[in-house]
Amino acid sequence: MSNFVFPAAEIPSAAVRGTDARYAVSRIFCVGRNYADHAREMGADPTREPPFYFTKPASALTASGSTVPYPTETRNYHYEMELVLAIGAPVFKVTPEAAVAAIWGYATGLDMTRRDLQAAAKAGGKPWDTAKGFDQSAILGEIVRKSELGVLDRGAITLSVNGVEKQHGDLADMIWNQAEIVSNLSHLYHLHPGDLIYTGTPAGVGAVVTGDVMLGRIEGLGEIQLTVGPAE
Ligand code: MN
Repeated sequence: MSNFVFPAAEIPSAAVRGTDARYAVSRIFCVGRNYADHAREMGADPTREPPFYFTKPASALTASGSTVPYPTETRNYHYEMELVLAIGAPVFKVTPEAAVAAIWGYATGLDMTRRDLQAAAKAGGKPWDTAKGFDQSAILGEIVRKSELGVLDRGAITLSVNGVEKQHGDLADMIWNQAEIVSNLSHLYHLHPGDLIYTGTPAGVGAVVTGDVMLGRIEGLGEIQLTVGPAE
């Protein structure tokens, strides 16, 4: 046991389907603009860009089914429905073929975003941290093991707000597929169990306000739900 001046924070973790054991989370990576139709709606050219990443602190992890307060310092709080990869083996500088074996599980995810702060950061050439890595910004459903599902590389990914569908895509429409993402990221970091990767969102992102209920689904995987509460 270590001798800390303050108690160590609880280790963020996610539920795993079919077991009481939890998946301890150490890092959260996110892929930007990984569906062509979303890249276009954000004003980018989907044909020319290699994958790029941002991160959220593991402490931002929030379970599906939660109610989160409307965040501070934004007037444009957006949802982004995403497939999340859970890494289950150490990998470094691997090929796409070898990268797939390191994917241990899949989960539904919501990459919640202060879109106005992101737009200001882009315009000013500044980091995205306050736009993307704020408290309770990484929503996650239960992890389902790849050994149960097989490789989940196609199927509908949808999100509705208050029962009205807003996002509808297919996992097969990713610009960079999961093997390419894990391979590419493994050239930038030593990946290991505990690393989550949010793989980007299809078109149809938009704002939510207090009282809204988001329900996301990925075909063959499951659902995710989030309710927006009052501002703190
Ligand atoms: Mn995203």
